[in-house]
Amino acid sequence: MTKAIVIRSLGGPEVLKLEDVVLEAPGPGEVQIRQAAVGLNFIDVYFRTGLYKTELPFIPGKEGAGIVTALGEGVTEFAVGDRVAYASADGAYTAERNVATRHLVRVPDGISLETAAAMMLKGMTAQYLLLQTYQVKPGSVILFHAAAGGVGLIAGQWAKALGATVIGTAGSQAKIDLALAHGYDHVIDYGKEDFAARVRELTDGKGVDVVYDSVGKDTFPKSLDCLKPRGLFVSFGNSSGPVEAFNMGLLAQKGSLFATRPTLFAYIATREALDACANSLFDIVQSNKVRININQTYPLADAGRAHTDLETRKTSGTTLLIP
Ligand code: NDP
Repeated sequence: MTKAIVIRSLGGPEVLKLEDVVLEAPGPGEVQIRQAAVGLNFIDVYFRTGLYKTELPFIPGKEGAGIVTALGEGVTEFAVGDRVAYASADGAYTAERNVATRHLVRVPDGISLETAAAMMLKGMTAQYLLLQTYQVKPGSVILFHAAAGGVGLIAGQWAKALGATVIGTAGSQAKIDLALAHGYDHVIDYGKEDFAARVRELTDGKGVDVVYDSVGKDTFPKSLDCLKPRGLFVSFGNSSGPVEAFNMGLLAQKGSLFATRPTLFAYIATREALDACANSLFDIVQSNKVRININQTYPLADAGRAHTDLETRKTSGTTLLIP
């Protein structure tokens, strides 16, 4: 047996309940791990509320790190005692679990398991957004919404290291100050200011090359007004609710824009892609150009409180659940 958070009905944070669950031996192609930490992500909220669909009951969470304690049949690429982490394996909110090896990477010696659990999903997201969806380079001018969040603080530092001018948005003065200390050149309080008008001012009327928008409903379609002609709109989240259907003609009206709606899971779907993305993240963290801020830690049993704090915009940086 082990302890896990189980969701038996969709709803608010109160549906996250700690239970004793059976831990089977690892199946073929799986390893068993004892988790040091579990990463909290906004996607966990979407599954809890039912915005993203899955079958009930389920153990939420996609990200964690721990030590391999047993090997299933046919596993040769990992050994008992290995330090491993993952960002795409459903069922993370638990003390011990089985994971298919296709999700796993080995954590380098210089990186703690807690840091790995905090950064795999958010850090690999920053990686593909800045280096694959669009190639940020010296001279690029970008807008990144929710700059002080988990993905936001990593992306700001990484984009600065790539030589970009980095504009962010955040919802309070404390978050603005935090983002300014993590790579952002300018941070706009989007609760108080017209962020599109301010972006125009900051770019001498030109607009930015790319907008990274995880806020969704509340920042659309205004995010399109921040772009230069033929700029790229990257919609990658729904923190305020999903973007509603819109007429493609809007992209023509706003300047022949491009738009994409990516997910991390499509960018790490093969072993080669996962290793390349994870190694790129490990390299930038080990170079100290990107620091991982674990700003909130909760016992696994308090996952409901952690969800409340994330949804009510009380958190900044990354958040861990400790089994
Ligand atoms: P964050 O730590 O960034 O938390 C979300 C932040 O969004 C809040 O802190 C808040 O910052 C801002 N926000 C704006 N409006 C709202 C609202 N109405 N309700 C709640 N928050 C709001 O979370 P994560 O780092 O875990 O994820 C960031 C976003 O990126 C999420 O939307 C997530 O779904 C998305 N994502 C997408 C991935 C993909 O591949 N497509 C992968 C990983 C994450 P403030 O107070 O400053 O406004």
